[in-house]
Amino acid sequence: MQIEKVYEPQRFEPHWAQWWIDSGLFRANSKAPGKVFSLVIPPPNVTGVLHIGHMLEHTEIDVTVRWHRMCGDNTLWLPGTDHAGIATQMVVERKLAEEGLNRRDLGREAFEKRVWEWKAQYGDTIKRQMIRLGASCDWSRERFTLDPGLSRAVREVFVRLYEKGLIYRGEYMVNWCPRCHTALSDLEVAHTDVQGHLWHIRYPVIGMPDTFVTVATTRPETMLGDTAVAVNAKDPRYLDLHGKTVRLPLMDREIPVIVDDLADPAFGTGVVKVTPAHDLNDFEAGRRHSLPKIKVIDENGAMTAAAGAYAGLDRFEARLRVVAALDAAGNLVKVEEYPLSLGRCDRCKTPVEPLVSTQWFVKTKPLAEKAIEAVETGRIEFIPANWSKTYYEWMYNIRDWCISRQLWWGHRIPAWHCQECREIVVALETPTKCPRCGSAELAQDTDVLDTWFSSGLWPFSTLGWPDQTEDLAAYYPTSLLITGFDILFFWVARMAMLGIEFMGDVPFRQVYIHGLVRDAERQKMSKTRGNTIDPLVVTEKYGTDAVRMALLQGAAPGTDIVLTEERMESSRGFANKIWNAARFLFLNMERSGVEPWVPESLETFHPVSEADTVEAPIEDRWIFSRLNSCAEQVNHAIEQYRYHEAAQVLWHFFWHEFCDWYVELKKLNFRENSGLTPGWKNTLAAFETALRLLHPAMPFLTEELWQRLAAGAPGRPKSISVAGYPQYRREATDFAAEREIGILQEIVTMARTLRAEAKLDPKQQLEGALYSRSAALDLARTHAVAIQTLANVKLEFVAGAPPKAAVSRSTAEFDLILHVPQAQQEAQLKRQAKERDQLVKNIASLERQLGDEAFLGRAPAHVVEGMRTKLADYRAQLEKLNG
Ligand SMILES: [Zn+2]
Ligand SMILES: [Zn+2]
Repeated sequence: MQIEKVYEPQRFEPHWAQWWIDSGLFRANSKAPGKVFSLVIPPPNVTGVLHIGHMLEHTEIDVTVRWHRMCGDNTLWLPGTDHAGIATQMVVERKLAEEGLNRRDLGREAFEKRVWEWKAQYGDTIKRQMIRLGASCDWSRERFTLDPGLSRAVREVFVRLYEKGLIYRGEYMVNWCPRCHTALSDLEVAHTDVQGHLWHIRYPVIGMPDTFVTVATTRPETMLGDTAVAVNAKDPRYLDLHGKTVRLPLMDREIPVIVDDLADPAFGTGVVKVTPAHDLNDFEAGRRHSLPKIKVIDENGAMTAAAGAYAGLDRFEARLRVVAALDAAGNLVKVEEYPLSLGRCDRCKTPVEPLVSTQWFVKTKPLAEKAIEAVETGRIEFIPANWSKTYYEWMYNIRDWCISRQLWWGHRIPAWHCQECREIVVALETPTKCPRCGSAELAQDTDVLDTWFSSGLWPFSTLGWPDQTEDLAAYYPTSLLITGFDILFFWVARMAMLGIEFMGDVPFRQVYIHGLVRDAERQKMSKTRGNTIDPLVVTEKYGTDAVRMALLQGAAPGTDIVLTEERMESSRGFANKIWNAARFLFLNMERSGVEPWVPESLETFHPVSEADTVEAPIEDRWIFSRLNSCAEQVNHAIEQYRYHEAAQVLWHFFWHEFCDWYVELKKLNFRENSGLTPGWKNTLAAFETALRLLHPAMPFLTEELWQRLAAGAPGRPKSISVAGYPQYRREATDFAAEREIGILQEIVTMARTLRAEAKLDPKQQLEGALYSRSAALDLARTHAVAIQTLANVKLEFVAGAPPKAAVSRSTAEFDLILHVPQAQQEAQLKRQAKERDQLVKNIASLERQLGDEAFLGRAPAHVVEGMRTKLADYRAQLEKLNG
């Protein structure tokens, strides 16, 4: 029972973190009894290190998972990481660059080998950090999106979708990153508002001398690839242009005027240039009118041979030259400042280039329909519910999903191109010859799949699919997903679509969307702002439990979480308070020769008495009744993902009920009986139960204390993390005990307030009288000793109405009078008179200023508001002084 004087979480947290894993406590068993609760982790990128956003997410998951496990559910939290295609490839490419190499020097195979080496060396950083922070995952089931099992699932899904006609290869306009050399999905393009220009260029109309059309563009270099200009059918200004052609300056090419809705009569001159190879809308208009596509910018962002004199130039250099040449030829009409939204590669910030290329696509409409229905019918529930609106908005407007990436790190597309006849073979196993021409010259597609393709299968691929495993049968659909809103589309929507398609059921029943962690000024945390909080630094400083508690206190559904040093500091204070309470109990156990003990039944809890004939002490009955109420509220709060509420209830219970009252009352008892008796079993049982209530929020502190409390106790569970979670029972509420201790608390609080108001030294013993006309007086009388000790007031108990007195206070049931010595009373009266004078002066001064129209006219609103508040405050103080 030895316990150190000071709460030093660094001493025991790493020990329990490792012990939990080594003991296999979090290993799930698909055959175990109980209701199933399963959850898969949003797989962090393998390149990642834990940031405070992860810590929030993992804390919320861990609280829920630990709670379910303690409630006796068959619980699985499956961990793992994502290979994170483009992100990981960039990390390794940067390393290569330091050696003066690039991936093309190395070749594909050697490069992939380098990435795997990198992964082996650094890829489990997140795992180590998660273990240290107490995440109660089943590490025996850890998965990686590129491991063999998951890769098999990826192939299976690809082949089945292809055979169903839901995967196709097509020419399409994609967002291209000229730096990363890959297509990007719309979601991987970050848009920023920048100040650009609108160049107005005129094209001469053929067959109509001195007639020009003027088009406006933000990207003049693309005019080299124009294959038409468009006017709107409804635009009366250009009826005479229908069927005409214009001459494209610089290129001296004749291009048609087409009539299409692409031209908006309200924008610019109402005529637009059409560049099907370099703009998505133009691409679609080009399809409608069978226009040729002339590609003038290549995959490196340089001008192609089709750009004539500009071939080989970088696209931005070409822009300058094109504009200069147009100006010189008299075809530049004007240049305007123009704000525009510039799309950049999310990874490397290079401006994206819309390019036409052949890519692989998933036809998403049929998949999205079922995924929409799953939310509409409530089979998937979003919490908070308003996220479903965002989900619908995106799903209703979904476009086909470009799944091919021109990277080397990822799942290679299971398609082979026949070098003889161009046949494409999509298959699970590498084919040996072309089914059409019999040629053995087959080359696998060089592209890999979008990283979200594999993570989209995560809830079932991790459980063993396509095999019908026991895990899959037991744990799919998963019960809950806890994730951030930023991957609602990238990930949550894709899982919904693919889960329903391949498993015939939703991948998760509920999706809880958590907020962002912000700083004291409610600013978003970012490296550039320099306001980030490193979870490993603060957990070292305050202890993991304190940081968890600080995060949970702010974690109300639908709100962001403010995390400050003060909050973590005060959470450490909370942990320290519990530590000190434990120290007191343990020291007294030792002094009394009490053996470690836990109650036989951990599901229910109730006070016990030393002998059948003697009732348990009132404070024991009271604390068990409060525990019951605390259990009710905490269970309810965790069930509803109201983590902030669970944290507040636990905080209040431990601090303001267990430590401030129960332990204090016990101290009186111990003082009188020089030890823990009587009722020591109750004291330990109450503390033990309280620790279990707190465990999901503060796992380390509670395990440390629980193990000391229960060491050697017969029949106890191995760990508090698998002990039962206390449940509310209606019949365990002890109204009589709550009423009686409530009266004691009321009187003590009243006496302390009176003493503080009269500015009397807390150490000065006072005398007083308690008046009441109700039966509660007798109840109060039984606690005379406690009142005398806790409030330092010796009371006389009088049935009846009180006389008028200087220092008194009343409640509905009681009147309390403190007998303050004459000299002190006079001093107090003097002080009150002085205070009153000062208040009267202050009030007069404020009233004068607030009555001055001229002053009100020039003073800022918040100053006036502040003065009004102050005035009201002074008036209230004065009223109180006057009694
Ligand atoms: Zn890039
Ligand atoms: Zn062939």
